[in-house]
Amino acid sequence: MEYLPCNGCRGLCCGPVPVTAQELKIIRKALGAMPEEQRSKLQHQLRFPGTCIFYDDDNDKCGIHSFRPGVCQAFGYYSNLICFRNPAAAAEEGWDTSEEPAGILSVDFTWKDF
Ligand code: SF4
Repeated sequence: MEYLPCNGCRGLCCGPVPVTAQELKIIRKALGAMPEEQRSKLQHQLRFPGTCIFYDDDNDKCGIHSFRPGVCQAFGYYSNLICFRNPAAAAEEGWDTSEEPAGILSVDFTWKDF
């Protein structure tokens, strides 16, 4: 399996993404269990406008990686979610989800919702 060259990308693919009600529930629960200092550091980072609210710019990675939404998990590996830094990794056919999104993370849901 091809891996994505995420280091040094500074979260270019981490903008607003669709999120389902179930994913929101999982994120809320996991953020609630996160140590207060870690959560506060992640919440109050300066980010470029349009960057995902959970992107950890200090550490150049997703701040909620183990409980990130499905579209983030699929990104880079499907023909309709290609990472321009390694297009060859997108070997799977079009990614789809049968679940209707509850909204857009970073637009409809921001830190005040968690
Ligand atoms: S949840 Fe994580 S992987 Fe998904 S867009 Fe935000 S920072 Fe990127």
